[in-house]
Amino acid sequence: ASALMAGKRGLIMGVANDRSIAWGIARAAAAQGAELAFTYQGDALKKRVEPLAASIGSSLLLPCDVTDESSIDSTFAALKSEWGKLDFVVHAVAYSDKDELKGKYVDTTRDNFLNTLDISCYSFTAVAQRAVPMMNDGGSLLTLTYYGAERVMPHYNVMGVAKAALEASVRYLAVDLGDRGIRVNGISAGPIKTLAASGIGDFRYILKWNQYNSPLKRNVTLEDVGGSALYLLSDLSTGVTGEIHHVDCGYHVVGMKAVDAPDI
Ligand code: NAD
Repeated sequence: ASALMAGKRGLIMGVANDRSIAWGIARAAAAQGAELAFTYQGDALKKRVEPLAASIGSSLLLPCDVTDESSIDSTFAALKSEWGKLDFVVHAVAYSDKDELKGKYVDTTRDNFLNTLDISCYSFTAVAQRAVPMMNDGGSLLTLTYYGAERVMPHYNVMGVAKAALEASVRYLAVDLGDRGIRVNGISAGPIKTLAASGIGDFRYILKWNQYNSPLKRNVTLEDVGGSALYLLSDLSTGVTGEIHHVDCGYHVVGMKAVDAPDI
């Protein structure tokens, strides 16, 4: 049997280091034969992404700042000239001022609200606009979200609002792009200690809480997310679109603290 992703080409957006969720997904896709290109945000991160990409046989690295329309245009123009066609995109990009990832949502400033929604939500649509013309045989667009979109989590604040909008945009994009055979889905990942997560207040507490209270009694790994992403990116999920798939050790089904959960 040939590898699940053999013959597929995908763009991975959002690798900052080897703990990035995007990197977990890239590894899983590459292990199944996908050919990958990576974007990086600025030269500082290029130095980190380059050796990671090289380790899985990829040398196609493109700069991309999603706040800049011309930067996204250049990224996709370069990709088009290298590859012509594209089968999937992984969008694992989010940002908010860390001063507002603690305390109360009610204190969110207009500037940070707009910037957070721009980078963490609109960018997925901006990327879809450029990816779609390269997906003539259909395709799969995947973004990353969190349960803080559905329920109030301490400190998640404006990022929760951005993720709620991102999840709604997954559904709208799924309808708009469905007739071209392009599927659009999100993975709602449980908490993982990454660079972005380290900006969130009391993150260690949140990790412990999820570990003690999720049905599987552990936190998710990059491998867990990579495996589920592989399903959504591959032809195993050709009937799935507009879906938010929870990869959170089951945490989202739980209604209350486990009776045997230790004090944190
Ligand atoms: P990470 O810090 O490794 O990745 C975040 C990425 O966003 C970085 O690569 C960064 O360069 C990129 N980025 C930020 N602003 C950008 C911009 N203007 N232009 C281009 N790229 C930009 O952290 P991560 O946790 O792997 O985050 C990936 C995704 O997963 C995010 O959407 C995050 O919200 C989501 N997520 C994370 C968790 C978690 O607990 N870590 C849980 C659920 C969802």
